[in-house]
Order: sequence, then C-alpha cells, then structure tokens
Amino acid sequence: MAKNKKIDDELHLLAARRLRAAGMRYSKSRKAIVEVLASAGRPLTLDEVLDFQSDKTLAQSSVYRNSTELVEAGILKCLASGKDHNRFELDDSIIGHHHHFVCLDCGDIEDFEVPEYLEKEILALEAELVKKGLSVEGHTLDIQGRCHQCS
Ligand SMILES: [Zn+2]
Ligand SMILES: [Zn+2]
Repeated sequence: MAKNKKIDDELHLLAARRLRAAGMRYSKSRKAIVEVLASAGRPLTLDEVLDFQSDKTLAQSSVYRNSTELVEAGILKCLASGKDHNRFELDDSIIGHHHHFVCLDCGDIEDFEVPEYLEKEILALEAELVKKGLSVEGHTLDIQGRCHQCS
C-alpha cells in the first residue's frame, strides 16, 4: 500500500490530540504501533505488530501495554477473532466504517467495504429499531470463511 505523507501527518495529529484529551502522551512506542497498523491496512495481532515494525524498537511488553492504552483512548479497536489472538486495527473514526472477512481456520481478518446501497439499507433497519424504542450504536457485519492460505 502506497504511503501518503500528508495522511500520515494527519493521522498522527489526530492520535496525539486524542491521547492528550485522555491525559496521555503520544510516546515513540505508541506512534510506532499506530504507524505499523496504518501501513498494514488490515487488522494485526500484537505479534504481527512486533514483526512488521521497520526499526525493531518496540519491545513485546511495551506493545502489549501501549495497545491497551491506545484502545482506551479510542485510537485502536480490539477485534476478538475467536480462533487465536486478538487483532488490532485503527478505530473506525479514523479509517472509516467497514466490515470484516474472518478466516475460521487461522483467524486472519481482512477489511472490506459494502456497497453504499447496502449500508443505506442497514441504516434504514437501524432507524426502524430506534422507532421501536431501542438505542442503536451501530452495526457490525462479519463474513466468515477461509482465507487464501487455508482454503
Ligand atoms: Zn486462514
Ligand atoms: Zn477492519
């Protein structure tokens, strides 16, 4: 995936602002985690985050601790994939609303977007539920199956 410098800058400014609002610092380790996830373009396990970092400055304990704090600050989202380890990605408020393909064998997760007409239908469905007095926070749609490696 081609990296766009301007988008990177905006991403880091946004992350820094959110952490500051939560009374936290945008440390080098936190920035490195955000950078790895942004360039991967798909949810990663913490082991993958460690493998994919370019300068290998992150220690395992630091990745584990900081990822939890980044979730608390609303910058990362933790996806339980059931199969093995949890996966992390940048929050929807940063990368946009999307859905997941989940591999039932290895637990790998790929991002995908559904066509606009389908999102609209789901939003109409949500509106119906609100009319019935329910409080709606959003929706998730996972497609399950087997990835290229496992099928
Ligand atoms: Zn798989
Ligand atoms: Zn995703």
